[in-house]
Amino acid sequence: MAATILQGKEVAQSIRTELATEVADLKKQGIIPGLTVVLVGDDPASHSYVRGKSKGCEEVGIRSELILKDASTTEEELLSIIQGLNENPNVNGILVQLPLPAHISESAVIEAIHPEKDVDGFHPISVGNMVLGNETMLPCTPHGIIELIKRTGTEIAGKHAVVIGRSNIVGKPVSLLLQQENATVTMCHSRTQNLEEHTRRADILVVATGKAHMIGKEHVKPGAVVIDVGVNRIETGKLVGDVKFDEVQEVASFLTPVPGGVGPMTITMLLKNTVSAAKKQAKR
Ligand code: NDP
Repeated sequence: MAATILQGKEVAQSIRTELATEVADLKKQGIIPGLTVVLVGDDPASHSYVRGKSKGCEEVGIRSELILKDASTTEEELLSIIQGLNENPNVNGILVQLPLPAHISESAVIEAIHPEKDVDGFHPISVGNMVLGNETMLPCTPHGIIELIKRTGTEIAGKHAVVIGRSNIVGKPVSLLLQQENATVTMCHSRTQNLEEHTRRADILVVATGKAHMIGKEHVKPGAVVIDVGVNRIETGKLVGDVKFDEVQEVASFLTPVPGGVGPMTITMLLKNTVSAAKKQAKR
């Protein structure tokens, strides 16, 4: 039977509707959640992501601000902008769009953001709290993936989840969150031998490699939930995932499309983190 297509766009929309109600209630209490996005340079993909984030904010009623700086901006200047935002009570969330130009240290910039305003969940304190299982700002893509899997009605506890990819922003955190949801997790990467042997045992397969179409139906256990995180632009200009959609659709029970799967969830989780940050900061 063909897989049910997991329309992240629709799930994201329903979460945004819930968030819009929450933001309207907060506004009645005088709390206006605010997100500031800082974009350095003119990478077209980054500009497009940032537009999506501003649009999302507008949709749910979050006040958003975009600070655009040219590629020659120094690390010192950027750190001083972040310092100003850390001190600004109207700014609840700060996001510096990555990647940054090569002369700026990404880790220095991430570490400069106050952890309470770290809506990307990349600060070492946020990551440490996530590892410890403490309440914290979860990174948006992994958090979005867990929400998507839950909304399929799949019970994660006790399932065998296989994650391909071990990056700090997707593979590692999603593996950890799946384990915290009581899945038994296998992590695969470019040095994994006999990849197919691992992936064929997965009840839940999360693919985050950035290698277009590397996963075919031979990798997938019939009935598995398959989450395709990859976003790859192929020669034709088309955006495709890491999974061969047409053939995996024949064997999986649920499958995310690219685009329209994980991507919209990522932005929605950013909005959710901004609202949580505003609520937390209002209590102080
Ligand atoms: P990275 O390049 O940082 O990591 C890729 C991972 O895949 C690495 O751990 C690498 O292994 C592993 N890998 C690469 N090739 C293979 C292979 N042939 N077999 C097994 N493992 C392999 O990528 P990201 O995690 O940042 O992103 C992954 C994809 O997800 C990209 O396409 C990116 O655009 C997309 N993405 C989408 C988001 C969304 O919101 N939709 C958000 C973030 C990312 P090793 O560690 O050994 O090198």
